[in-house]
Amino acid sequence: MTTEGVSSNFIRDIIDQDLQANKNAGLVHTRFPPEPNGYLHVGHAKSICLNFGIAFDYNGLCNLRFDDTNPTKEDTEYVDSIKEDVKWLGFDWDDRLFYASDYFEQLYKYAIQLVEKGKAYVCDLTPEQMREYRGTLTEPGRESPGRERSVEDNLDLFKRMRAGEFEDGTRVLRAKIDMASPNLNMRDPIIYRILRVEHHRTGNKWCIYPMYDFAHGLSDSMEGITHSICTLEFENHRPLYDWFLDALDIHHPQQIEFARLSLNYTIMSKRKLLKLVEDGLVNGWDDPRMPTLCGLRRRGYTPESIRNFCKMIGVAKVNSKIDIAVLEKSIRDDLNKRASRVMAVLRPLKVVIENYPEDQTEELEAINNPEDDSMGTRKVPFSRELYIERDDFMEDPPKKFFRLAPGREVRLRYAYFITCKEVIRDENTGEIVELRCVYDPQTKGGDSPDGRKVKATLHWVAAAQAIKTEVRLYNHLFIKENPEDTEADADFTSNLNPESLETLNSCWIEPSVAGAIEGTRYQFERLGYFCIDPDSSAQKMVFNRIASLRDTWAKVKKKEEKR
Ligand code: ATP
Ligand code: MG
Repeated sequence: MTTEGVSSNFIRDIIDQDLQANKNAGLVHTRFPPEPNGYLHVGHAKSICLNFGIAFDYNGLCNLRFDDTNPTKEDTEYVDSIKEDVKWLGFDWDDRLFYASDYFEQLYKYAIQLVEKGKAYVCDLTPEQMREYRGTLTEPGRESPGRERSVEDNLDLFKRMRAGEFEDGTRVLRAKIDMASPNLNMRDPIIYRILRVEHHRTGNKWCIYPMYDFAHGLSDSMEGITHSICTLEFENHRPLYDWFLDALDIHHPQQIEFARLSLNYTIMSKRKLLKLVEDGLVNGWDDPRMPTLCGLRRRGYTPESIRNFCKMIGVAKVNSKIDIAVLEKSIRDDLNKRASRVMAVLRPLKVVIENYPEDQTEELEAINNPEDDSMGTRKVPFSRELYIERDDFMEDPPKKFFRLAPGREVRLRYAYFITCKEVIRDENTGEIVELRCVYDPQTKGGDSPDGRKVKATLHWVAAAQAIKTEVRLYNHLFIKENPEDTEADADFTSNLNPESLETLNSCWIEPSVAGAIEGTRYQFERLGYFCIDPDSSAQKMVFNRIASLRDTWAKVKKKEEKR
């Protein structure tokens, strides 16, 4: 096991072997290479923890590099958010912040070298012809006429491509590899295309842009990366990654692929997340229902919980789906140790304690965290009028309902035993609006002097002192485990969960939370973990439910173990 990263895995085994063989002079240098075309999500966190974690554990280095070679979709807004999110997760690239666009000049020179070596050529097939010439998985491709051009002609044409002499899309530079290769990526892939689009960093300096496969491996090489860790879909690109480096005879990092994270009830494609944002189907990238890091942060997830989650799921060579309950378990485990307990009532039902003096208020002692004595105690006010949870009362309870009911006695946590005497209804609607109860003054603190037992302990707040708040409850964003599983003519948005957000407007919370800053996390006793949302104001506090208390995953685990 290691401190920050993930536990032992096949990537670490490769690195161990390399170190033993003194490959790369005993250095370990990784990178995290996001494309700034969206916000980071929890899948990226897996890659960040892996790359930065390995560098940390092996006393190596990890670069942050923006793979910004596709100016049509990229933006500085994304660059800024990515930097913020990596830092928030707890990782630091020190002075090693790089951009593929910083290498455009050098990449161009490498392309010139390939042309000079007769390993690249300018092709003027139309995109349709290119597709047609490419062949299929079962049929080899055909060679482009441009393949036969002389080095001089290719050099001249490529330089004129850069100089802006040709229209967008009329010519490309291609690697001269093998049109009959069974790996389609090796059939003379495009290296450069003509594209008159302003780049968020280089402006209009360039009208040709390198393709990802070309730029990526060469950027790795230029930065002295030793292990280039990427997700499985690049396995088929590895021969090309290797080909460019061999053809140019430059420092050759080793590409290693691992399985990307996918979670049920969640989508992880940036393109689809962008659609949710653009179509207003969520309230922005940081909507607490989003799997983005800024969404999870706003929801109340801690960086520690996400790092722990990444550690728990490990790194494998085959794709699989992780249950989103594993993520929820990671925040529960973290907050169970750290979050202060408070009492809040989400769906209030008024209780009047008839035998309690009208003008009296007591300050009762409550424990802040039973898991951690050092977190101490606090005072909660108790008075004649209280709120309890609506579903903690039933007028005509079934057998297994042990909470409050007419004539029944229960404990109010940290306070007294109360007994329900009467139910008051709204004359017009018949709805229960109030319970008349009596308390036993002998049971202060929640203990009965005569050893009398009650079957339930309820949370509550004192009506006069409680703070009225808004609470936002979140459920899975999608109703289907696999949101891509849709009816024939529908897309993934048809599987959005209409009940993913439930807003409760008249919740009450004990006054100890007054003045707490946004981002503060609590356990609401018996309800779950909650966090103060940035929408809070001096007039109204707003809480997000991070997770309920129930640990469905642990239950599933237990069942499995029993089998
Ligand atoms: P796309 O390339 O389709 O825009 P991407 O999710 O691959 O999307 P990148 O910005 O290229 O986005 O990702 C940066 C790094 O994060 C890559 O190395 C990628 O392999 C890794 N990564 C992306 N998604 C996941 C995931 N779900 N699990 C693990 N790693 C991921
Ligand atoms: Mg990618």
